[in-house]
Amino acid sequence: MREWEKNIRRVTPYVPGDQPKGDRLIKLNTNENPYPPAPGVLRALREMDYDRFRKYPDPAASVLVRELAEHYGVGENQVFVGVGSDDVIAMSFMTFFNSDKPVLFPDVTYSFYKVWAELFGVSYETPALDERFAIRPEDYRKENGGIIFPNPNAPTGLLMPLETVEELVRSNPDSIVIVDEAYSDFGGTSALSLVPKYENLLVVQTFSKSRSMAGMRIGFAIGQPRLIKALQDVKYSYNSYTMNMPSLVLGAEAVRDDGYFREMLEKVIETREWSKAELTRLGFTFPDSMANFIFASHRTVQAGELFEALRANHIYVRYFKQPRLDNYLRISIGTREEMKELFAFLETYLSAR
Ligand SMILES: *Cc1c(COP(=O)(O)O)cnc(C)c1O
Repeated sequence: MREWEKNIRRVTPYVPGDQPKGDRLIKLNTNENPYPPAPGVLRALREMDYDRFRKYPDPAASVLVRELAEHYGVGENQVFVGVGSDDVIAMSFMTFFNSDKPVLFPDVTYSFYKVWAELFGVSYETPALDERFAIRPEDYRKENGGIIFPNPNAPTGLLMPLETVEELVRSNPDSIVIVDEAYSDFGGTSALSLVPKYENLLVVQTFSKSRSMAGMRIGFAIGQPRLIKALQDVKYSYNSYTMNMPSLVLGAEAVRDDGYFREMLEKVIETREWSKAELTRLGFTFPDSMANFIFASHRTVQAGELFEALRANHIYVRYFKQPRLDNYLRISIGTREEMKELFAFLETYLSAR
């Protein structure tokens, strides 16, 4: 090893789902929304003045912050925005998880948490989910340097009841509890209602799944002003211009159209519930998902085999080759037509086997 190589920070990166190319494929592997963003987003995009690209964007991201504050009924000093919730959560790790005590998150969860903990050199512990994949709240009643979990959890889709979330926040007054609500719009109960009551609670959401804007990279956190101020101080010490101008303008536009948003969510939820029935009929079992994906295991056929067979037929789902998860497929909810094709393929494949 060269001398300079010894100085390199070594990390094992997060591995995102494939973004396969081609148009004759069904992509159900990264929990994107199958429907387009709100119509107002397209209108604003067409009307965008490209001369504004010469200038730096607003570092305070005011148009978007204002729109989110109004929509969620909080102060503008309670909203922090970033380049997807990945950016917001990374900033939160840097800002809030800064003690010698271990940060706690479940053993089966969004795999990026572990990557950030390693990158920022924070110690962590990963309490095991119970045998039905539920978080055991009692595991979080110990000394810790912070807590983070998605609700609903990923990749299981399981929702923790709001009372349990509150109990967890209440029993940890000395650490920051981050609830990653990437999927809560699909049927969860958001912890946003608890924000006025708890100064140690930070709720993080994203435009990537429920608002059909994964490509724009928009995420946000809502908490009490002191938490938001701390996040801003770290952001301004790192990169003042995280969000670009089109994301700010188009993101604000997406929030304005609540009618479209609700309608589209309803369609995803309806397709999810129908998909649960279809999967059951085909011999799958799964935790009862409240997200826009289902984490399913077949009673007789190995998930790895199904994953390969699906991929060979241009249907992409997510497969995690790791202990406890390697007999499950995480299937994002697509359009009704896409799901029909998936189930038709599975039906043929399983009966020919
Ligand atoms: C998708 C996802 C995110 C990150 O989404 P962004 O596209 O960065 O906003 C964060 N947490 C969980 C649990 C996710 O599934």
